[in-house]
Amino acid sequence: TTTAAAAPNYSLLASAARAFSSATTPITATLFPGDGIGPEIAESVKQVFKAAEVPIEWEEHYVGTEIDPRTQSFLTWESLESVRQNRVGLKGPMATPIGKGHRSLNLTLRKELNLYANVRPCNSLPGYKTRYDDVNLITIRENTEGEYSGLEHQVVRGVVESLKIITRQASLRVAEYAFHYAKAHGRERVSAIHKANIMQKTDGLFLKCCREVAEKYPEITYEEVVIDNCCMMLVKNPAFFDVLVMPNLYGDIISDLCAGLVGGLGLTPSCNIGEGGIALAEAVHGSAPDIAGKNLANPTALLLSAVSMLRHLELNDKADKIQDAILNTIAGGKYRTADLGGTSSTTDFTKAICDHL
Ligand code: NAD
Repeated sequence: TTTAAAAPNYSLLASAARAFSSATTPITATLFPGDGIGPEIAESVKQVFKAAEVPIEWEEHYVGTEIDPRTQSFLTWESLESVRQNRVGLKGPMATPIGKGHRSLNLTLRKELNLYANVRPCNSLPGYKTRYDDVNLITIRENTEGEYSGLEHQVVRGVVESLKIITRQASLRVAEYAFHYAKAHGRERVSAIHKANIMQKTDGLFLKCCREVAEKYPEITYEEVVIDNCCMMLVKNPAFFDVLVMPNLYGDIISDLCAGLVGGLGLTPSCNIGEGGIALAEAVHGSAPDIAGKNLANPTALLLSAVSMLRHLELNDKADKIQDAILNTIAGGKYRTADLGGTSSTTDFTKAICDHL
């Protein structure tokens, strides 16, 4: 069994969950099964939750087949309303067709629901050997602007322009979340990751905001690391880092690098935090079209995302039980999906987790 000391902590911010403590059970949560492997791994979460008797009723929403003019994307207005109302949800990966002239589904969700921080914990899993066994870091990614502002156009034929937007408001908000998170979880250090030597105005403003917030948290060590050096240090000695906070694009890239340190994208969860305590959990990975529909996907990342959602809802007993069952199944070695070197199908691995509950 996993010991408490070795168990990764997938909790979010306890303060954000208070509003749920008086909620009548069962709690309604929005579920987006998503695209590609999404429906397969979402099914796995539903089965494990059922076996663990989690008091959650899913309100399922699928990506639409036509553009909804109210959202300018394939995401329907009703599905956004569902998250706004339930304030908690789980999202499968959503594919972004390249250059099809509509808003990315993920971008729509982040913008419309103001999901300003994306929390991506990355932990070595007990019993699953990789080069390192001491990875325990949290990437906190600004989630609404930067290079992902969706502002691109052609200047003249053969020349395109993409705007990187950094605002004081969004930078302060994500920095505040990172320091608050560090303090609430007894973490000691926050590293701001940047490229301000080149991107002087944009990353410069981001750093200025991080410094301002750092002053309010004298008990937390604050440092600034240039992104290229950060990549090198992460690969060489990931235990050096604790909480990392960074603009949108850097967070997207760094968290995939971190996933590689602990065994791959099949293992790393995340959660999007929005104003008013909205928490929309999702795996770090995408829709994995290369293995979609083949019963090969590893559902662990989405399951651990669902665990963070349970912690947000203060359903800690259920979260502990499910997390232990997942980690013990992987550590046991008999049931592992192909990405972890095993031969189990998604459904057999899911059944093994249910048997470990
Ligand atoms: P991807 O994360 O889907 O896949 C990268 C590689 O990792 C593939 O080889 C895939 O098979 C593997 N992989 C990913 N998840 C896995 C899992 N659970 N189990 C086993 N193997 C897994 O990245 P991609 O191929 O660059 O993107 C595919 C689509 O997903 C694109 O349309 C992209 O825009 C979208 N995407 C969506 C999100 C999201 O919804 N948050 C995130 C990233 C990418």
